[in-house]
Amino acid sequence: MEDRYVLVTGGAGYIGSHTVRLLCSEGYRVVVLDNLVYGHEGAIVDESAKLVVGEVGDRDLLTRLFAAHHFIGVIHFAAYAYVGESVNDPLKYYRNNTAEPLTLLEVMSEFGCKSFVFSSTCATYGEPERLPLTEDHPQKPVSPYGKSKLMVEWILDDCDIAWNLKSAALRYFNASGCSTDGLIGEDHSPETHLIPLVLQAIKGEVPEITVFGTDYPTDDGTCIRDYIHVEDLATAHLAALRHLTGGGDSLRCNLGTGIGISVKEIIDIAEEVTGQKVPVKYGARRPGDPAHLVADPEQAKKLLNWEASRKDPRSMIETSWKWMSQPHDGHFPS
Ligand code: UDP
Repeated sequence: MEDRYVLVTGGAGYIGSHTVRLLCSEGYRVVVLDNLVYGHEGAIVDESAKLVVGEVGDRDLLTRLFAAHHFIGVIHFAAYAYVGESVNDPLKYYRNNTAEPLTLLEVMSEFGCKSFVFSSTCATYGEPERLPLTEDHPQKPVSPYGKSKLMVEWILDDCDIAWNLKSAALRYFNASGCSTDGLIGEDHSPETHLIPLVLQAIKGEVPEITVFGTDYPTDDGTCIRDYIHVEDLATAHLAALRHLTGGGDSLRCNLGTGIGISVKEIIDIAEEVTGQKVPVKYGARRPGDPAHLVADPEQAKKLLNWEASRKDPRSMIETSWKWMSQPHDGHFPS
C-alpha cells in the first residue's frame, strides 16, 4: 500500500496528540509540525510519527516538507486557545490563528494538496439564540479567539470556490478526558479548564476550584456545557480526513455529545470518581460565559457517520484522574 502521509500541525498539543496516535494506529504516516510553545514533545508517543519543530507560517519549512512528502491531507490544530488572553491580546490571536494558516494554505495550493481538516470551535457561535446549537445557527463570536477561528472558516469557504480546497471545520464543544490507557493527556500551562482544575483541587495542587457564577438561569444556577471525550474528537478527525480524501465535499460539523452537564454536576461526579471531597469556592460569573451551550450532534452523524462513543461525563473524569494519578502527576516531562 502506498504511504499515506498526513501533516498534523499542533500535533504535540492536547487534541492533536490523541489524533496523531489514532492516525498512526490506522497506518497513516504522520508528520507533526509544532512550535512546542504549548505542545509537548513527550505527547508524541508513536515512533513512526515524525516531529518537526517550527511554525505554520514558515513558508520555506513548509515548502521543504511538502516537497519531501506527498501529503494526502492536512489536519490543522495549531492555534492559541485561551479565550481570556485573546480579549487582552487580540493581535496575538489574529496573527497566530488567522494569519499564519494563510501561508499553510498557499503552500497546500502550490502542491495541489486539497484536503484540510480544521479545528474550529463552538465559540464561533457566540451567545446562543436557540438550543441545541445546529450548524446553521448564526455565528456571532464574542471573543477574538472565536472570531480568529470563524475567519478561517470563511477563508476555507473562499478557497473551496477558488481552487477546490475541500475542508472539514469541526466545531468542538468542551474537549475533556485523557487517553484510556493513561499514556497521554491534558497538560496545559496555565490550566484554565474545569475538569483538570477540579482534579487539581482534589490533589491539593490548587487550593480550591472557584465556581464561576451560581445565578445562571439553569436548574442549579451553574453553567451547562457539552463535554466531549478527547478520544472521540480524535475519531471524528479521522472520519473527516477519510471523508475529504475519499472525494467528499466540504462540511462544517459540531462535535459534541448533545448532553448538557452543569459545573456542579461535574464537581459531584469528580467526588464520586475519586472518593474525595472537592474544595469549592463560589465566585462571580466569568465575563463572556454563556449560561448554556449544547451541540446538536446530528450533522456529524449524517455526514461523517460519527458520533461520540462516550456520553457519560464520568468517563471524561475517570480518564483524566487516571492520567493525573500517575507518577508524572498529569505532566509531560519537560
Ligand atoms: N468554570 C468554573 N471554574 C473554573 C473554570 C471553569 O466554574 O475554574 C466553568 C466555566 O464558567 C464554564 C465551565 O466551567 O461554565 C467550563 O469552562 P472551561 O473553561 O472548562 O471551558 P469553556 O466552556 O470556557 O470552553
